[in-house]
Amino acid sequence: MTIRFSRDMGVLAVVPLGPIGEMAVRITAANLQAVLEIPVDILPAAALPAHAYEPTRRQYDAGRLLEDLVRICPGGYGKVLGVAAADLCIPILTYVFGEAQLGGKAALVSGWRLRGAPSGAAVPLDHYYERLAKVALHEVAHTLSLYHCEEPGCLMNFSPTLDDLDRLNLMFCERCRFSLRDNPWRLREVP
Ligand SMILES: [Zn+2]
Ligand SMILES: [Zn+2]
Repeated sequence: MTIRFSRDMGVLAVVPLGPIGEMAVRITAANLQAVLEIPVDILPAAALPAHAYEPTRRQYDAGRLLEDLVRICPGGYGKVLGVAAADLCIPILTYVFGEAQLGGKAALVSGWRLRGAPSGAAVPLDHYYERLAKVALHEVAHTLSLYHCEEPGCLMNFSPTLDDLDRLNLMFCERCRFSLRDNPWRLREVP
């Protein structure tokens, strides 16, 4: 089963936030395009906004970054994904790899915590890129109204640790693929 989107349903914008590597952004965008079969544009990088910084936590508030993404995203894009070079938090969790507006417009992934190995060393770059792609796909699927899924290996598993993330396949399970295919508005711009 494949998911097909036509160009008139809109395009996903990918916005680098802060000094995230160009290759990381390109590979993330390529995976979104390949797995979701949607058109993806990479937009110019934007600075991480100071008002989203939480000085006491030394992290960026993911909810405020999502609101910002919606505001800075040019018209005509159905969804927007920020790829951030900073640690993210939400009020109830000490950190998140990514965050999204469920059924909304904006999603977010951070590379900050995805480089680590259990030993404390950095994982090889291709492993890091794969983790980025997994989180990006998971978060963008949330904007397409997908909830968490318990099918082993499915990208929609709730994966709060790197071990959880590494156990996932770079694909959605049959049921989630069906939900993506049947999503009534998919990437269509909501007036
Ligand atoms: Zn999730
Ligand atoms: Zn699933």
